[in-house]
Amino acid sequence: MFKLSQKVKSLPPYLFLEIDKAKRKARQEGRDIVDLGVGDPDQPTPSHIIDRLYQAASDPLTHRYALDQGLLGLRQAIAKWYNNRFRVKLNPETEILPLIGSKEGIAHFPLAFLNEGDYTLVPDPSYPPYKGGTILAGGRPYLIPLKEENKFLPDLKKIPFNIRRKAKLMYINYPNNPTGATAEIDFYREVVDFAKKNKIIVISDLAYSEIAYNGYRPSSLLEVAGAKDVTIEFHSLSKTYNMTGWRIGWASGNAQLVSALAKVKSNIDSGIFSAIQLAGITALEGPQQHIKDICQLYQERRDTLIAGLQSLGWQASPPKAAFYVWLKIPKKTDTSASLSVGGEHSRATDSIKFSALLLEKAGIVVTPGIGFGKYGEGYIRMALTISKERIQEAIERLRRIL
Ligand SMILES: *Cc1c(COP(=O)(O)O)cnc(C)c1O
Repeated sequence: MFKLSQKVKSLPPYLFLEIDKAKRKARQEGRDIVDLGVGDPDQPTPSHIIDRLYQAASDPLTHRYALDQGLLGLRQAIAKWYNNRFRVKLNPETEILPLIGSKEGIAHFPLAFLNEGDYTLVPDPSYPPYKGGTILAGGRPYLIPLKEENKFLPDLKKIPFNIRRKAKLMYINYPNNPTGATAEIDFYREVVDFAKKNKIIVISDLAYSEIAYNGYRPSSLLEVAGAKDVTIEFHSLSKTYNMTGWRIGWASGNAQLVSALAKVKSNIDSGIFSAIQLAGITALEGPQQHIKDICQLYQERRDTLIAGLQSLGWQASPPKAAFYVWLKIPKKTDTSASLSVGGEHSRATDSIKFSALLLEKAGIVVTPGIGFGKYGEGYIRMALTISKERIQEAIERLRRIL
């Protein structure tokens, strides 16, 4: 009866809902499911941050509308954190905007700059809101394949000149979800150079900068000299402090870009619950030991998973950062399992069939690569957000079925 807008109709199918459905069904049937699918930390938020929330929430001053631009104290804590972590100086008055989780900012940002038909350069595979935000703003995603032979970095030289002219935005995300790839400062320099030459705004998604292994320290794109002329960077407390459900993140960088996003948002939301902002300050300024602890934990899980997969003859290499293992589907598998994963809109591709097979035959949930875009096809993603014991269980089950 109701006709969806062209924009909503153009959104890619949200595969993850379908996977959730299949997973719930399997659980209802009483099956023991090993869930390597969710990119959501399994550890709790550190208790000093929770304590601060309790305390702040009992103060009636936090019960009113928050300021759209976020508490000054939070913006100052973010500026201090950026300077300590990356030696990047940010003005808390003009260059930082707290967000209700970085996803909303990432998805709303295109509304500030795209006109109907403008292009956004979107890496593929990638986090779904890059495409979704572009389409909802009336723009067109131009997909840049992230290929294994190029270490899952976009090959900027290959972007056609007519597209460069029509592109207003480009998304960059390292450490990368879903591939686990990382970027070094030389690549970031190339990005800034490309963006300046072609008058393109760079949207850098830095959600995983603190989740890294063996002492590796990811860089911020804003570390590049002159990057701030063209860049807005998104970060979040979600992964660093196990706070995905709290919804708090921020945008920082070029003042004009930050204020344009603020203008869009002032028409959509009314800020982050002040008690959560106060707890956010505590997160950034309090003890940081638990970050080392969770990285150690993910690292052990990573090593268990990689060693297990290799023992099965699977080609797998350990990511330096983020908590995902991105795997090529092994060639000779019978992928005839039938599951309605993918919904009506999408054909069952190899990655969907293989994921369905793992669920059906082994009770293992993974994310099919196509859920992150067409160039993700042929891969699956496993997340390191379950215990080492459960990862070992998954390996044993794989050994039995493969
Ligand atoms: C988890 C994640 C985020 C963070 O999302 P929040 O909305 O801040 O919870 C951003 N980008 C990517 C690629 C992610 O995987």
